[in-house]
Amino acid sequence: MGYIFQFDPWRSRLCSCPQKWSLNPYTGCGHGCLYCYATSFIPKFFEPRPKKNFIRVIEREITKLPKGAVISLSNSSDPYQPLEEKYQYTRKFLELIKDLDLRLLIITKSDMVLRDLDLISREKTVISITITTKRFDRLLEPMAPSFERRLKAIIELKKKGYKVVARVDPLIPFINDSESVDIVRELFPYVDHIVVSTYKARPDSLRRLQTQFPKLSSHLKRLYLEMGSYFQNSIYLPLQIRKEILLKVTSLAKRLQLSVGLCREGIYPIQKLGKCDGSFLLIS
Ligand code: SF4
Repeated sequence: MGYIFQFDPWRSRLCSCPQKWSLNPYTGCGHGCLYCYATSFIPKFFEPRPKKNFIRVIEREITKLPKGAVISLSNSSDPYQPLEEKYQYTRKFLELIKDLDLRLLIITKSDMVLRDLDLISREKTVISITITTKRFDRLLEPMAPSFERRLKAIIELKKKGYKVVARVDPLIPFINDSESVDIVRELFPYVDHIVVSTYKARPDSLRRLQTQFPKLSSHLKRLYLEMGSYFQNSIYLPLQIRKEILLKVTSLAKRLQLSVGLCREGIYPIQKLGKCDGSFLLIS
């Protein structure tokens, strides 16, 4: 396989996703999120480009997928980033798989996904919209659609009968962790599942946050570089702090009877196996 590959083939012990395949029509991303982890391993990440011979390669690769395979679109870029307006690779991919026995988990920060609903099956798709922050969207995700546009997209998708997931992450201490509960309350009527997780720092993303929020720079440094610990190239907050941040949201979700999953926290049983990304909604 070239462009479609098995998600997490190394089976990280912190990942509780069901088996799925991953596809990124573009290399890099134009949304410019400060906390993005993919900038640490993909060169020139914020200078996105379309994948070479995308359609030709994909046409061949989809014939090799097992029946009913779940394709996650996308994990280290956004399928509806600004380049999609010009190249429409995501749309072309949806056209290709429209009548095939494949299932989709679309993960985006863009309301551009509404453009393609004519090609997206309600039965075979879960759409996950990331809402990281309401207060700081222009600072943290400068080129992505605003909080309001994403919320409208979620409401529209729900109205149209899609299974909708909201990713309320990454939660960054001192920056957006305190607004997470209000965001979940606002999203609650329109979503089938939420995903929460804390910010796992990479040296470059941490530097970007420290530059953008200079008053918080020393707090972030202390929490991550002095008190945190490395796991698989990421720096995790101390366990107790992660629990405090996450429990605020998971307890609210429990009260609201809203399904909730954690992403790569390794805090069981709060992180339920197979329930993190929302792809379980495809099966149930
Ligand atoms: S949308 Fe996702 S892939 Fe794109 S910059 Fe933001 S975090 Fe990175």
